[in-house]
Amino acid sequence: MKKIEEYVRTIPDFPEPGIMFRDVTSVLQDPDGLKLAIDSMIKLLDGVDFDIIAGAESRGFIFGMPIAYALGKAFIPVRKKGKLPCETVSAEYDLEYGKAEIEIHKDAVRPGQKVVLVDDLIATGGTMEASCKLVEQLGGEVVKILFLMELAGLKGREKLAKYDVASVITYE
Ligand code: 5GP
Repeated sequence: MKKIEEYVRTIPDFPEPGIMFRDVTSVLQDPDGLKLAIDSMIKLLDGVDFDIIAGAESRGFIFGMPIAYALGKAFIPVRKKGKLPCETVSAEYDLEYGKAEIEIHKDAVRPGQKVVLVDDLIATGGTMEASCKLVEQLGGEVVKILFLMELAGLKGREKLAKYDVASVITYE
């Protein structure tokens, strides 16, 4: 059986020179890769008690939704600003150049609910740190943060030091 690393395609200099882009489309377009990725992420939730999966736009949707469905939990999308139709809370975070803003619906998390956050990959950790703030603004508790891939060299985990963070594969 192939390992998950063997399904990930690496593209040098995308989207900019110097970046080694870890592509998940090559994982998902193979049915065995897709199943292995989702099953491996689900395994990291063994013994975790939670109510909601929150997925970060847009690859966090791809991985978060099937996990929520398989485990009988709710799913909420963390979206880029201006996409959600009802009342939202929002958080800003720094990009390499400029800033980004993300939102969730105010009624998506009730105080005391336990939330698992999911994304395909952690680089600097900025997206996930902002996502955690949104959940916490609404009184939710972040009980786990789950990634398929981690770029350890960028030290994103340091930003998320107070949380329980897990990833299926790590690139140094
Ligand atoms: P961070 O906020 O941790 O710096 O960046 C993580 C976000 O950027 C994630 O939402 C992730 O989807 C995207 N991202 C950054 N680099 C890569 C990459 O090499 N591959 C993929 N698939 N996504 C990336």
